Amino acid sequence: MVTATSDIVYSMSPDWRVMQQLDGRGFLSDTHEPITDWQSRNLYPDDIEKVNKAINEAIKGKKIFQLEHRVLRADGTPGWTFSRAVPILDDKGDIIEWFGTASDITERKQAEEALQKAKERSEQQKRLYETITSGTPDLMYVFNLEYRFTYANSALLTMWGKTWDNAIGKGLLENGYEPWHAEMHEREIDQVKATKQPIRGEVSFPHATLGKRVYDYIFTPVFNDQGEVEAVAGTTRDISERKQWEQKLKESSEELQAINEEMAATNEEQAASNEELTAANEELAYVNQQLREAQQKIEEGQTALRLAIDAANFGTWFIHSVTREFITDARLKELFGYYPDEDLSIEQALAQITDEYRGYVATKLENAIYHNGDYDVTYPVIGWHDNRLRWLRAIGNLQADPSGAFSAFTGMVMDITDQYLAAQKIEHAEESLRMAIESGELATWLLNEKLGKITASARFNELFGFGPEDEVPYEAAVTQILPEYQQMVQDAVDDSFKTGAHFNVEYPVMGFHDNKQRWVRSVGKFVADEKNGNYITGVMADITEQKMDDIRKNDFIGMVSHELKTPLTSLNAIVQVLNTKLKASEDVFVPNALEKANNQVKKMSNMINGFLNISRLESGKILIEKSHFDIEELVREITEEQELSVTSHYISLVECAPITVYADRDKINSVISNLINNAVKYSPKDTTIQVACTVNKNEITISVKDEGMGIKPSDADKIFDRYYRVESNNTRHISGFGIGLYLSAEIIQRHGGRIWLESEPGKGSTFYFTLPLKN
Ligand code: ADP
Repeated sequence: MVTATSDIVYSMSPDWRVMQQLDGRGFLSDTHEPITDWQSRNLYPDDIEKVNKAINEAIKGKKIFQLEHRVLRADGTPGWTFSRAVPILDDKGDIIEWFGTASDITERKQAEEALQKAKERSEQQKRLYETITSGTPDLMYVFNLEYRFTYANSALLTMWGKTWDNAIGKGLLENGYEPWHAEMHEREIDQVKATKQPIRGEVSFPHATLGKRVYDYIFTPVFNDQGEVEAVAGTTRDISERKQWEQKLKESSEELQAINEEMAATNEEQAASNEELTAANEELAYVNQQLREAQQKIEEGQTALRLAIDAANFGTWFIHSVTREFITDARLKELFGYYPDEDLSIEQALAQITDEYRGYVATKLENAIYHNGDYDVTYPVIGWHDNRLRWLRAIGNLQADPSGAFSAFTGMVMDITDQYLAAQKIEHAEESLRMAIESGELATWLLNEKLGKITASARFNELFGFGPEDEVPYEAAVTQILPEYQQMVQDAVDDSFKTGAHFNVEYPVMGFHDNKQRWVRSVGKFVADEKNGNYITGVMADITEQKMDDIRKNDFIGMVSHELKTPLTSLNAIVQVLNTKLKASEDVFVPNALEKANNQVKKMSNMINGFLNISRLESGKILIEKSHFDIEELVREITEEQELSVTSHYISLVECAPITVYADRDKINSVISNLINNAVKYSPKDTTIQVACTVNKNEITISVKDEGMGIKPSDADKIFDRYYRVESNNTRHISGFGIGLYLSAEIIQRHGGRIWLESEPGKGSTFYFTLPLKN
């Protein structure tokens, strides 16, 4: 039997001084010869006293020694055993030997300790949560000093079989307590009031549905501001189960006692019971382990939930369906414009909701609490102290009690002002865009690169002369563009897809059904879309009227200039003739006056030529007639002529390479003359104007530099536009139409060159243009 058991087996002298033998099973170190120092060898020092006390009692009563205590294990570390020894008596009844066994319960003990700690932590958590949830099976209640109930939780109401309304405000007798029981509690309430100390008791009485039960209860004083007891709060816990367990435990240990006694007589029986005990221990350890894991999971879950709520910045709330008690956190109060330490009732919260929403929210809430309805509402609130408008979204979750007597309604509130206002802004923006498109009679369109497909509004179809419902493939739309503009539009589309550039073109289209010519302006924006293919989307406006106006104006200018040219030419001829005739005359005044008249006539022809050029350009009639000529020669010619006629400034040719260019000599002449004329016009008397040309690589650059008023960067971009003139006090008195640079730029562009300027306001400007040398 001894060999068979896995437990430690030992035998001791009658007075326990000598350990005769110990089989330590690897747990304790073995002893084969009698020893006397077994206590220091095997016992954990702090427990020696406790063990000796139990030994002495066992010896005195000739009873079984039985104790859970700490030991020093074979490897020197502390462990726990459950040790039990039986006295073997001789026929006179004297002890001749003790025979004992011990089992290793270290793990179970450790599990118990950990469980105890976990329990304490969990209790702490529970207390926190119990303040807001009445869903506990414990009975919770409050008495006033007249022994009347002012609060009873749902568990207590269920036990009484009563509702809130017919139980609250009543005394103990009225709520069905027996006279002895009622008197006892009334005495205790008096005692709590007098001593200001909580009291605890145990009582047994019949439950409405569960029959006779045992309860453990605590009465605690509730203090008012002056520190006087104003009420007594109580909790009662049903401990019937525990009592039964304790009873059972008691019975089983009595049983164990009996078995042990028998065991003293029969060793076989003892072995069997030991094995049972080991098995039971193992089971216990396993259950403890499970319990610990479960406990840990709950704790982790609670922590995670709390962290999530904190992080999400929700306000949380709770409503009791019976008492309408409303519990909120500080964040929720803040959302309603209350300070964290102020009370906020459900009515006050509703009052902060704006008039048009209040009724809706209140109805939803009532319906949710009392009829189990859904609760997810969005509404505006004006903060109580801060008067701030916030859009809130509240979501609630009903936790109904199966008995129907009580339901806890919990929920959260979040601030969605930003999202809400942003959504509204988008709506408004869309609305204004729609209105703008409608009132401007704009067409909208989208051209997908991958599909080569155009998606457009009915107005687009209309502009191209199709029916509003007609399917218009991209090619069909292009076909309606007047032939000489098709390439230009196509290039703009390609360029936009290739470089992401904005799309902005004007072109005439011929209506498909109505054969009407319209001018349209199409403005678009490139959008990259990997999934569905890149696209350009934009709007299109009918600019026919504007274009027609332009064309009519151009025609008019062209006609007037043309008509003015003939009389001016005669005038010029007459002045020339007069000039030669007067050469011989002695008169001083007349030739001078004629010289001036000649200059004015020249100026006028320049102007008229400018206008004529503009109208030619606009109607596409300007002609570039290229020939090979030496640029140095041309530049020298112009500067020398200008040097002679302009007396107010010093004009000089700085440098120029003799090089042949292929260009329209007259037009390049007018560009250079125009730049020099501007330099004269826009710089003070007696300053220098320098003309230069330099060759680099494949182009020649010609520049005109002055020391004049200069041009601000904001104007520099625009001065090449038609009719653009810088508006300032310095320029107002200088005559001009703003067409010289426009024409120059057009001419240079048509030669494949570039034109630009560098300028520092107040210091001067340099205008540059290039002409390509090859081709
Ligand atoms: P106009 O001189 O007839 O007004 P232009 O097209 O030749 O027309 O010039 C456009 C504008 O550019 C002028 O009105 C003037 O404000 C500005 N500008 C041109 N050249 C110069 C310059 N050299 N210095 C300062 N401003 C200039």
